Amino acid sequence: MFGTYCRHMAVSVPRAWGHGRGVLDVARLHVRSYSGSSGGHYKVLVLGGGSGGIAMSARMKRKVGAENVAVVEPSESHYYQPIWTLVGAGAKTVRSSGRTTASVVPSGVKWIKSRVQEINPDKSTVRTDDGKEISYQYLIVALGLQLHYEKIKGLPEAFEHPKIGSNYSVKTVMKTWKALQDFKEGNAIFSFPNTPVKCAGAGQKIMYLSDAYFRKTGKRPKANVIYNTSLPVLFGVKKYADALWKLVKARDLNVNLRHNLIEVRPEKQEVVFEKLDSPGETVVYEYEMLHVTPPMGPPEVLKGNLLADPNGWLDVDKDNLQHKTYPNVFGIGDCTNLPTAKTAAAVAAQSSVLDRTISKVMKKEKPDKKYDGYTSCPLVTSYNTVILAEFDYDGQPLETFPVDQSKESRIMYHMKADVMPHLYWHGLLKGLWGGPGPYRKIMHLGMK
Ligand SMILES: Cc1cc2nc3c(=O)[nH]c(=O)nc-3n(C[C@H](O)[C@H](O)[C@H](O)COP(=O)(O)OP(=O)(O)OC[C@H]3O[C@@H](n4cnc5c(N)ncnc54)[C@H](O)[C@@H]3O)c2cc1C
Repeated sequence: MFGTYCRHMAVSVPRAWGHGRGVLDVARLHVRSYSGSSGGHYKVLVLGGGSGGIAMSARMKRKVGAENVAVVEPSESHYYQPIWTLVGAGAKTVRSSGRTTASVVPSGVKWIKSRVQEINPDKSTVRTDDGKEISYQYLIVALGLQLHYEKIKGLPEAFEHPKIGSNYSVKTVMKTWKALQDFKEGNAIFSFPNTPVKCAGAGQKIMYLSDAYFRKTGKRPKANVIYNTSLPVLFGVKKYADALWKLVKARDLNVNLRHNLIEVRPEKQEVVFEKLDSPGETVVYEYEMLHVTPPMGPPEVLKGNLLADPNGWLDVDKDNLQHKTYPNVFGIGDCTNLPTAKTAAAVAAQSSVLDRTISKVMKKEKPDKKYDGYTSCPLVTSYNTVILAEFDYDGQPLETFPVDQSKESRIMYHMKADVMPHLYWHGLLKGLWGGPGPYRKIMHLGMK
């Protein structure tokens, strides 16, 4: 254990304390490492080794050299979360969604296997749960968001019971598939919370897939499929919402707007929704199958931190992703307050902008590349069709392909199920995929 500390410190001595320090300082440093308080210094420190954190680690490695980059990530496993939609419907295995974190951290980049407990941007330091203090010159915050199943009464304990699942967690995604297979007759209920979420389409994608599964297995006549959403709309972008409403009607799916899940009673197989437009009014449903999209919120460590906005999200400039008050801090992905839908597709587009912003800041120049809010949601509508929603900050479609993407497409399903995972593991995580922007121009013959 000690050997590891000292070896680690020996590497970080020159960078932590600058050149020209004598033997005495090095000896002192070893005393510090003995107490376990110093975690070294890095030119670029990345917090979070998810989609955004690994993509930026790869890009920073190319920019400043692997030995000058570290990523703090407590988890042994890294997941390609978008595929959980298909895992919950039995179309992909959960195994195919994960790899070890060790295998995705770029070679030579230091993986600090700890949880960030405190960020002190005034001192440019971070404290981890094992008591180490790490200092940085530039900080990239990529901490994702938190799932709050516990904010629904009866959860997460109700996941111990059958007939309930959630594609949002690796722990519960297989429970969705089990509930789907075990379905006999009754209500199949799908919820959507009244908080910001990642992939706002995932809660209804599993509804379309479940409907398709019931049809395939002859159970559809006995199923009442219900999507209860807190939102006042089915989807935030009108073009795709219009297409989805048509689909919902054609497939006899029941959508109730402004309904928020507040309680699960697994013994009775009942759920309670509050009606957001009639305060105090609730409605109880029996269920034969329940899929929960949980409330979500910012990472704990950001709440109340100097880096956060009043809602707890990382407060960054929406054009260049630099922090609004700390110029050596940057953000990417779900943990930020960028006013766009939180997706891995957005992370990809953000990664190329952030790469450019950091280059400029390192050269003491003004950031010049602007993020347009590009995000994408492949709305899986059956086991072989997808409506590929792509849009910007203004909720305007920003489509890559020169076709009407609000139409269900088999090619887009193939993209979602087979091409995008490949692009994720071999493109985004290697810092080589910055979103479809350049291809969009080519596809539209330079017109977009
Ligand atoms: C069911 C589902 C379907 C989805 N479908 C799509 C889709 O079709 N298309 C799409 O583009 N996106 C989709 N997404 C969303 C996409 O997966 C996320 O938006 C994306 O992964 C966000 O990347 P991130 O780096 O911001 O966060 P994450 O990838 O979640 O990474 C955050 C990392 O931070 C780490 N972390 C957290 N707290 C700490 C701490 N205190 N210290 C250190 N590390 C910490 C976590 O362990 C995690 O590894 C889907 C997500 C789900 C769950």
